[in-house]
Amino acid sequence: MADQVKGLAGKVAVVTGGGSGIGAATAQRLSRDGADVVVVDVDGGAAASVARDLPGRSVAVAADVATEEGVDSYIRAALDAFGRIDLHHLNAGVLGTLAPLPDVSAADFDHVIAVNLRGGFLGLRAAFRCYRNQGTGGAVVVTASISALRGADDQVPYQTSKHGLLGLVHGAAMYGGPRGVRVNAVAPGLVPTGLFASSDDAGRARTLTRRGLTVPMRRVGTPDEIAGVVAFLLGDDAAYVTGEVVSADGGAFIVNTVTRGGGAGAWTPEDLTSERNQPDDAHP
Ligand code: NAD
Repeated sequence: MADQVKGLAGKVAVVTGGGSGIGAATAQRLSRDGADVVVVDVDGGAAASVARDLPGRSVAVAADVATEEGVDSYIRAALDAFGRIDLHHLNAGVLGTLAPLPDVSAADFDHVIAVNLRGGFLGLRAAFRCYRNQGTGGAVVVTASISALRGADDQVPYQTSKHGLLGLVHGAAMYGGPRGVRVNAVAPGLVPTGLFASSDDAGRARTLTRRGLTVPMRRVGTPDEIAGVVAFLLGDDAAYVTGEVVSADGGAFIVNTVTRGGGAGAWTPEDLTSERNQPDDAHP
């Protein structure tokens, strides 16, 4: 059995978007490390099936994180089941349209902002209200993205929502600091999950593994590898970490796109295998 993250056993954790991908892996990881887990997803069947498979105590809630009613309902379900909440992984998200900017509809934009950014705001507000009512501290991790830190020309609503989440994290960490509430973000790179299956460009999903070859570690990540970072940030080993964005992206964020070497500017595996991109390439 993997080593347990300190400070999770006996805690109550809410994981939104817990029915699939990174959220499901986090629910599993927190449960294995001894937390009671509330699995929240707009897809109630998926949440129930993840919750059923957890080794510890769990509850599944069908809720839309973009609405106040949805957030109220998962908080209520958590409190009914376990009496308090200690940890939140605000992770539910959608990719939305990959259309070029002139073709993005206002409805597409609003939907992505509603789930990813409004959902983050409502979740953080609810977490802080909960900690205030309990008279306790707590910890929150938001799932941001490399798209919170970098630009791409085909992800306008998505990266806008993810950049916005960092503003929330910074403000909430400032507010939470003196109140014993830590707020951090994890910024995954490429992790093949259902996120891409729902995209309006199915061809993209098939190229994910291939595109993973262009990051310094030359592979995509796994949901478990993101869950490990979330568990660390929620646990006691991160007791002095707040307002931080931790990338888990195989090194994608550090790539310098204006110099040669190291995979810089290599957008296809063919580029990577070209002579100039070999690891012993000494060009600056
Ligand atoms: P996923 O599609 O497997 O999981 C997302 C889950 O969120 C799904 O179960 C979905 O039903 C749920 N969800 C969607 N809208 C919801 C809503 N309104 N209310 C409640 N639940 C809702 O994708 P994933 O990759 O596991 O995504 C999890 C998070 O990770 C997202 O915030 C995503 O933006 C972020 N992320 C993913 C990647 C990646 O490469 N997979 C990279 C960076 C960031």
